[in-house]
Amino acid sequence: MITKINQDAMIVRLLPDRRAWKEIHYENLKYNVETLQSLLPKGCEFMAVVKADAYGHGAVSTASYLNRLGIRAFAVATVQEGVELRIHGIQGEILVLGYTSPRQIHLLTTYDLIQTAADCAHARALNDAACYPVKIHIKLDTGMHRLGERSDHIQEIASLFTCEKLQILGMYSHLCVADSQKMEDILFTRLQISSFFKTTEQLKEQGLNPGKLHLQSSYGVLNYPDLPVSYARFGIAMYGCYSSPEPGLMNILPLRPVLSLHARIAVIKELQPGETVSYGRNFRAGAPMRIAAVTIGYADGLPRSLSNQQIPVLVRGRKTHIIGNICMDQMVIDVTQIPEARPGDIVTIIGTNGTHTLRAENLAEAAGTITNELLCRLSIREE
Ligand SMILES: *Cc1c(COP(=O)(O)O)cnc(C)c1O
Repeated sequence: MITKINQDAMIVRLLPDRRAWKEIHYENLKYNVETLQSLLPKGCEFMAVVKADAYGHGAVSTASYLNRLGIRAFAVATVQEGVELRIHGIQGEILVLGYTSPRQIHLLTTYDLIQTAADCAHARALNDAACYPVKIHIKLDTGMHRLGERSDHIQEIASLFTCEKLQILGMYSHLCVADSQKMEDILFTRLQISSFFKTTEQLKEQGLNPGKLHLQSSYGVLNYPDLPVSYARFGIAMYGCYSSPEPGLMNILPLRPVLSLHARIAVIKELQPGETVSYGRNFRAGAPMRIAAVTIGYADGLPRSLSNQQIPVLVRGRKTHIIGNICMDQMVIDVTQIPEARPGDIVTIIGTNGTHTLRAENLAEAAGTITNELLCRLSIREE
């Protein structure tokens, strides 16, 4: 699958050979960034999370565009993702959110990346391996129990300030139920927030400077917008999506999806009553019908679990649906009600076609996952 940078009908027509592709709508990215920035309290900077190839949107192209918008803080999952951005000239701070082996420390210093200290032991290992000062943000565990030093280990955390090679530029934590409206989860999130600031305050009382603080990702900002932090880390919301369909939130804050997904009709044929479609023969025609084979499959990242669910797709501005099992490189749709459909027609799986729009949130839900996973798995396959 190839990523096409502009939604422009002319370009599609000029490239009749594309079989499956993503389109990246930068004007929507700009809208989302500006909308989300307007939610941030004064002094809180927008950190763009561009890990996993910017959730399938293309890390280098997305970060370059964000640089032009004035975004100067980025987060990636791995040191290699950070290196990739630097090699392509991305300016500003790049924070590596995940674990990096001390053996890769030269990459952090050569490419001016900020490394997350996954806990105190990791921080000390980085210090021991370093020839040059290494920039870090210390991650505090306030209840997610994944990365981070437990936030009540004040003395261990304080002792890191004596490590000569560590430049402690910030501290952060991650909220694990900030998306939930359940009272139990709201209370838990508030506890995470207070644990985080309790630790940073206690360090300050010891005369130590915890540096820049940050805590919220997309839902953290949406549900807990007014925290005294230096950054907010935006992933999914920046891409114009919610993790799952949220009719309420989507109305209050109508973000605009940045990615759309398209393929083409390869073959059209008639089906007689009783004939079946695709592997497993899970779809059976109840009446004469017209079907089309479409040039996208699960190897392109369209989950096979979307098979036999009447998942909607758009052809010539009309809505129809997927039938039968999704295959590795292809799928089949019903075009009985679209007699004008022809081989070569564009099939929209996510995005707008005519007056209809299909959202990634609904596709993800039908696939039994969240939008984040669906998007970042949409893979690149050269034509
Ligand atoms: C992925 C990630 C984010 C972004 O999360 P979204 O929910 O997509 O906004 C923020 N912080 C950390 C630590 C992450 O791993």
